[in-house]
Amino acid sequence: MDLVEFLNVRYDEEAAPVATPAWHEPWCQDPWVDPARGACFYCGEQEDPTKVDYVQQSPKTLADIDSKRRIVGGIAPAGPHDAHIAGTFTAWDVLKLLALPYVGHPDYDEAWRP
Ligand SMILES: [Zn+2]
Repeated sequence: MDLVEFLNVRYDEEAAPVATPAWHEPWCQDPWVDPARGACFYCGEQEDPTKVDYVQQSPKTLADIDSKRRIVGGIAPAGPHDAHIAGTFTAWDVLKLLALPYVGHPDYDEAWRP
């Protein structure tokens, strides 16, 4: 596994939906399992690891990850020993991609959009 593959696998992990317990009563906002009973301390439901919901990452998190992926994709062709960013991908492109998750902010300038 090289550095680019390593980063992209980490980004896949960070972008994946998060499994959350779905066996609590709907009103149970602060679930905590009593290990002695295998049940929720608050709602009393028995722990059931087969019942999970998958929650999508926030749009901001996904935008940050997309920005990182695009930076890696732009830099990777340069190779590990090249001092310069490859092809038409410039250092300024890195800054534009870092700003991309902030599209919609009142101070974001559309001229910066890659
Ligand atoms: Zn509960």
